Amino acid sequence: MPHPALRASITAPSVSLSAPVSAVRGIGEKRAAALQQAGVHTVEDLLYHIPRQYLDRRQLMPISRLVPDTTATVLATVRRTSVRYGKPGRFELTVGDETGFLRCTWFGDRWVRGLRKTFAPGDELIVSGKVSFFNGKQIISPEYDILTGDGDDLLHTGRVIPVYPSSADLREVGLDSRGFRRVIKPLLDSLAGTIPETLPEAILAACRLPSLEEALSHAHFPETPEEAERARARLAFDELFYLEMILALRKQAVTTGQQGIAFQSKSPLARQLVDRLPFDLTPAQKRVIREIHADMCRPQPMNRLLQGDVGSGKTVVAVLAMLLAVESGYQAALMAPTEILAEQHSFVIRDLLDGLGVTVTFLVGGLPAKERATRRDEVATGAAQVVIGTHALIQEGVTFPKLGLVIIDEQHRFGVVQRAALRAKGGMPDVLVMTATPIPRTLALTVYGDLDVSVLDALPPGRKPITTRWVSDATRTEVYGFVRSQVEHGRQAYVVCPLVEESEKVDLKAAIAMADHLQQEVFPDRRVALLHGRMKAEEKDAIMHRFKAGAFDILVSTTVIEVGIDVPNATVMVIEQAERFGLAQLHQLRGRVGRGEHQSFCILINGVDPGQPIPDDTLRRLEVMAETQDGFRIADEDLKLRGPGEFLGTRQHGLPGLRIADIIRDHALLLTARREAFAVVERDGQLARPEHRAVREVLKRRYMDGVGLIEVG
Ligand code: ADP
Ligand code: MG
Repeated sequence: MPHPALRASITAPSVSLSAPVSAVRGIGEKRAAALQQAGVHTVEDLLYHIPRQYLDRRQLMPISRLVPDTTATVLATVRRTSVRYGKPGRFELTVGDETGFLRCTWFGDRWVRGLRKTFAPGDELIVSGKVSFFNGKQIISPEYDILTGDGDDLLHTGRVIPVYPSSADLREVGLDSRGFRRVIKPLLDSLAGTIPETLPEAILAACRLPSLEEALSHAHFPETPEEAERARARLAFDELFYLEMILALRKQAVTTGQQGIAFQSKSPLARQLVDRLPFDLTPAQKRVIREIHADMCRPQPMNRLLQGDVGSGKTVVAVLAMLLAVESGYQAALMAPTEILAEQHSFVIRDLLDGLGVTVTFLVGGLPAKERATRRDEVATGAAQVVIGTHALIQEGVTFPKLGLVIIDEQHRFGVVQRAALRAKGGMPDVLVMTATPIPRTLALTVYGDLDVSVLDALPPGRKPITTRWVSDATRTEVYGFVRSQVEHGRQAYVVCPLVEESEKVDLKAAIAMADHLQQEVFPDRRVALLHGRMKAEEKDAIMHRFKAGAFDILVSTTVIEVGIDVPNATVMVIEQAERFGLAQLHQLRGRVGRGEHQSFCILINGVDPGQPIPDDTLRRLEVMAETQDGFRIADEDLKLRGPGEFLGTRQHGLPGLRIADIIRDHALLLTARREAFAVVERDGQLARPEHRAVREVLKRRYMDGVGLIEVG
């Protein structure tokens, strides 16, 4: 056997990694098209199309020893195939070994069509899956791998067989697991010795990672499951490292080389405000204020995320930061996601600043044109020291002569792009992003990984926990009875209807019907109001104001009240069809009550048909809600249930998606990758050193250099 490098030069000229996938031997036009559909465009993409699973041949089970409800792998021969038409259609494959027979069944026309021609009697194959018992032993939708005719020696020497992700379209062009193996094995052989390393030597050594070439080769054709896992970890690390490189460079682009504002460190006004607050700041608030203060006094621009659950007291923190900016002669802007919230902020902040001689302007799109023009002038002349508004603030026409601090409330609605737009408004203002949706640790390290993070991890003392109950639809009468008793004590209640249908119109109808029903039949002697997303901003504001002023007892709403509304007298939150809401949403909704001195309640009405089983993840969500009020725990559970897919690789964050790494499962790797990437940027911000040449190349090639974050020479 020649040395791998030699063999490469003998067998075939190796193809370039960035060449289209059709350059690979065995990939013709049809296959290339199907691969493109699956997101595999280049030779490199194909190499990163790694097995989803491995069948371990060392643990084969004779059919006679299969036990129902266990997962097993069997080596057997095809005896018979049959198609059952009907609804749904069904494809059955009977296989056997010396000890017995096993039926493999797939349901659905797509499978029937896809599999009909796949198996021939006499084929030897491996099947794997969960065993059940129904007219004999069977496995439904097993993993399978046809061995017959494989041709290469791999299966006889290899002890672990790769199972590739495939689709009906890929199978149609012969790219099932076997097809992929047949294409990828020779490709890897031809590339042996030529796959360039993407990580610096020092990091490979420090983290004990195999080389890229070894990792790719073992990911596809491991000898043991452990070897496969080591390879996968290396590839996952690689992705996470580059994700963190982009974040580290992004952070560097904002914080260094850029001259920001160094605010004066003394703020007599802030002292005055703290002294006259009716409460003491919590230790968490004091710590966070110190962190923000330190950032603001440094000449580099602040880029900080302030996380704190609903009610943790972020407003005071924000106002203290604003005072620091104002006293240094700058303007401070606060931006909220909706007009109601902007107005609420404006109200609370004016109150806090009362008598301190600071001018506050409120600017939203909903104002009459003339009024808006006047306020814009106040901002433009610098007469307005504190400006509170919505995204209208980043729209054209608003200029700030001395913008020093930008505070963005409710981060999850604003993306990187908006942050950049705001920053572009003034020289280099400090930016503080506030979020009431606790961000799971993993996301704080990825999606928000270019920000410094401050956490208000404790609520002010004396908050009563909210009693949370999950009830069935059948107890509706009791729920209404309970709402009535609260209203009789002078309290108020929310009833939230979910987004159920595709169309907002239908949802609206449901909410209107609910409000009518409650007003006419259940609470004819009480005042019921309706709030929904189709209303104009002013209408919504008017209703919220009246609810806050006590003009209604019960507010029926679609999910528009989700964020930030503060009505301390409201003590009951009833959520209809609670199973339809995500955890983060339920948590936010619950946060609307428990804001005053009274004991509050959250009642989750389960709308799942009594005859239907409740899905596991629904149960889990409702359990978590009943168990805890800790927003960080809820956020972690939410991420686990939903998966991180919807956060990464989206345009909002402008970060690459992950093909191999899973930020939850690979949390430890993520931490290491982050540490290593930030250390590289710390030492060599322009990636100019020879040992970072590869890193620079990869950034340029794979990620377009993180979109202009280093000066590419
Ligand atoms: P959020 O973090 O949700 O914006 P707020 O800033 O609106 O929270 O604060 C919620 C309530 O708690 C407000 O009524 C505020 O005055 C009060 N509050 C803030 N800090 C403290 C504190 N240290 N002690 C007691 N109450 C506080
Ligand atoms: Mg707030």
